[in-house]
Amino acid sequence: MNAEIISVGTELLLGAVVNTDAAIVARALSELGINLLHASVVGDNPQRLKEAVETAIRRSGLLIMTGGLGPTTDDLTKETTAAAAGKKLALHEESLRRIENYFNEKHVSENQAKQAWLPEGCHVLQNDNGTAPGCAFQAENGCTIIMLPGPPSELAPMLHNYAAPYLKQSQEFTIVSHNVHIYGRGEAPVAQMMDDLMDGENPTLAPYANEGECYLRVTAKAHSHEEADRLCQPLIDEIKNRLGNFVYSVDVDSLEELVVKLLAEQGKTLATAESCTGGLLSKRLTDISGSSAVFHMGAVTYANKAKEQLLGVPHETLEAHGAVSPQTARAMAEGIVRLSGSDLGIGITGIAGPEGGTSEKPVGLIYIALSDGKETWVAKRAPIGRTKTRDWHRHCAASQALDMARRYLTGLPVIEEHQYEGDKASRG
Ligand code: ATP
Ligand code: MG
Repeated sequence: MNAEIISVGTELLLGAVVNTDAAIVARALSELGINLLHASVVGDNPQRLKEAVETAIRRSGLLIMTGGLGPTTDDLTKETTAAAAGKKLALHEESLRRIENYFNEKHVSENQAKQAWLPEGCHVLQNDNGTAPGCAFQAENGCTIIMLPGPPSELAPMLHNYAAPYLKQSQEFTIVSHNVHIYGRGEAPVAQMMDDLMDGENPTLAPYANEGECYLRVTAKAHSHEEADRLCQPLIDEIKNRLGNFVYSVDVDSLEELVVKLLAEQGKTLATAESCTGGLLSKRLTDISGSSAVFHMGAVTYANKAKEQLLGVPHETLEAHGAVSPQTARAMAEGIVRLSGSDLGIGITGIAGPEGGTSEKPVGLIYIALSDGKETWVAKRAPIGRTKTRDWHRHCAASQALDMARRYLTGLPVIEEHQYEGDKASRG
């Protein structure tokens, strides 16, 4: 089945609101194994909306509309779409009761009540986080139409709790996807290594790039979840076989999630001393629920003086080698282990740019150290290829630090010889 999204709202066309709804729906469709072929935005204009809906109904088996289900006069998605699909609206009593309960009133205004008018005979998608219900119904030509409210906080739960199960049960097959996450190898070389596996039809294999990382999605279609899983497994095993320990997880969404999980399992703690990443690493770690059990502290030591005073980086080290050096990174990691009493410490120092680079120490040069109090490893990120942004350098440095922690915690070499352009003299 081919799908299409129409997001309704003039604010989207003005750039005042980013179309996150379309991204949420697109991801859900991809997980359901439904091909999305078009996604468009239409303003709050009945004529243009009618034309867009008519086109979509003609060419797609599934149309998902987002926004414009609310009480105001510019909310016209339901009336316009129902008319274009040849359906009348009818009052849905249960939805009206829910709206009355929501406002704790016996008789709500006509505007609010308008939200309970839905296409005749539709399957109602209840709104647990707002007033406007969504709905699913068939147009006269058989195209399935689903309408979801605009606010993402209402759309996402309605989609995942009600619309996706509705779509699933109307599909003959179950689609199962597993993401194999990779760190330390780019999308292009990974795709090349998997070239002969890319032509498979069931399961299928597709590469995706993420900021400084990539993942391979293995997707299978079968009559049951278990059967689809069974189809995926040999391909996942083969990918792991080819990529070895560059695969950091299957279905764990991020390096930080994995590192927090590994620390918790091993009863270990971590602290960070950051310079050029400005706290990004500690932010990413504390994004993970449960991190309080394993993350002790993060020190942002931007100035040399702070590196000396807080972390005990020797003045001579900073004088002799500079703040951006393997020696300073090492002293930062060792200093934060001493200061926090954590099992592991990470130190990051570098030049994120865009200004501040020299020919000797260019933008993007970043040293990352991991210390367990006894031994310290220092990796070097050296810029290659086209110019990257400040955000990119910082994100990738934090990711590399997490990967070093993941490697340490899983008994792998903290730095792979061929993985980084490492500074050999500074290791061990
Ligand atoms: P409401 O009952 O809040 O009016 P609605 O279904 O009528 O809901 P809209 O009026 O279209 O939705 O949008 C309400 C708000 O939801 C917008 O101001 C915007 O903040 C957010 N929103 C709408 N569409 C999108 C979208 N495609 N992506 C992200 N946010 C959106
Ligand atoms: Mg509205």
